[in-house]
Amino acid sequence: DPRLQAISQAIRVVPHFPKQGIMFQDITTLLLDHKAFKDTVDIFVDRYRDMHISVVAGIEARGFMFGPSIALRIGAKFVPLRKPRKLPGEVISEKYALEYGTDCLELHVGAVQPGERAIVIDDLVATGGTLSAGVKLLERVGAEVVECACVIGVPEVKVMIYYLLAGAGLLESHF
Ligand code: 5GP
Repeated sequence: DPRLQAISQAIRVVPHFPKQGIMFQDITTLLLDHKAFKDTVDIFVDRYRDMHISVVAGIEARGFMFGPSIALRIGAKFVPLRKPRKLPGEVISEKYALEYGTDCLELHVGAVQPGERAIVIDDLVATGGTLSAGVKLLERVGAEVVECACVIGVPEVKVMIYYLLAGAGLLESHF
């Protein structure tokens, strides 16, 4: 896809952020580039528009930057998966492992109905731990997670659009 190179170039790499040794992929510069941002959303929309998706679940915080645009275009609702104590209503929680320690994502009870078809979106996947927690939350309320979508896969950071199949293992079908 000829659009991917420009998308890739629009993402800034910041060395040693937030700590020494990390090459941080900064998607805020992609958001500044109207064409690259639109192309990114368009690619996801083309993929998901005919897959009968009714839920786009975005992971805090950078999943919120892509998810709603995709949801509106494919006729789905947007559901935020948030860090603890951010959602005001009743929630279910899912802990997941980080490199050091654990983190947690929460989903509002009632936001997703059993049997709904969902995708989970984030900006970047590294170990897949964060996305897996999102998938588990949706599956706990009876949704079917059709796929996970990310802009960037690591360590092959030059491949800008990855689609990770949900379920056992992290199986990517990317382009
Ligand atoms: P994982 O759980 O797959 O190991 O890590 C993915 C999570 O870490 C995502 O929520 C992603 O936003 C965040 N993350 C880790 N490294 C980076 C990075 O270099 N750039 C950005 N934008 N997010 C990162």
